[in-house]
Amino acid sequence: MLNLLDCLFPKQCFLCNKKGSYLCLACQSSLNYQKEQFCPVCARLSLLGFTHPACLRKKGLDGLVSLFSFRSPIGKMLKSFKYHQVRELESSLVDLATLGLSGNKILKLWRRELFTFTSVPLFPARRLWRGFDQSERMLKGICLKLNLPFKENVLERRRWTREQAKLTAKKRLKNIIGAFAAVNKTSVKNQNWVIFDDVWTTGSTLKESAKVLKTSGAKQVWALTLCR
Ligand SMILES: [Zn+2]
Ligand SMILES: [Zn+2]
Repeated sequence: MLNLLDCLFPKQCFLCNKKGSYLCLACQSSLNYQKEQFCPVCARLSLLGFTHPACLRKKGLDGLVSLFSFRSPIGKMLKSFKYHQVRELESSLVDLATLGLSGNKILKLWRRELFTFTSVPLFPARRLWRGFDQSERMLKGICLKLNLPFKENVLERRRWTREQAKLTAKKRLKNIIGAFAAVNKTSVKNQNWVIFDDVWTTGSTLKESAKVLKTSGAKQVWALTLCR
C-alpha cells in the first residue's frame, strides 16, 4: 500500500530519477565533495579550512569545514529533510556526510587533539514545532559512525530569535548576538570543540556559538557544516 509520504516524495534518486533510493549508488559515487575550504572570517581559500593567522580572533572560529556545496543535490535533500520532514532522508544524509568527513584530513587533527562534537541548538519551541532537531540528529549519526565524541546540550538558546533564513546578513548577526549560553561552563572549559550546523551562509550562528564557547574557556573551536 502506498503511504502519503511515498506519494509526496517517491523514493527516487534526486539526480537521475532512478527509483528505489533518494540517491542511487552510482550518483553517490559521482558526488563531488567540497574539495576547497574557506577561511570563516574573510571567506578566501584556506588550507584545510584553517582561519588565516591574520584573521584569527581570540573569541572567533579557528577553522571551518564544509562537506558539500549547497548547489549539489545535497542541498535539495537537506531542504526536504528540514522543511518537509522527510525523515527517511536522514540516513542518506548521514551516510554521505560520514563518507565525506572520513576522507577529510582535518579529522586526524580533530581526533589527535580530542575535539568534542556538538550542534547549534534550535529554540525549544521550534524544535517542538518541527518535532526534531535535524542538526543534532545528523551529527549524532555521523559521530556514531566515525566513533567521535558527541555531546548534547552544550549550548542553549537564551531568547527567541527570528528565523535566520529570512534575514539579511547584517540583521542575522544582530539577531543572534546574545542568543546562546553555555549550559555548563565548567564542562566547556579547556576543551576543543567542533560545532555542527547544516548550512554555512553568513556563519553568524556558528560565530556566535564559538564566541560563547570561548568566553566559557574553550580552547579551540571549529565549525563543521554539511553545505555551504
Ligand atoms: Zn542516481
Ligand atoms: Zn582569512
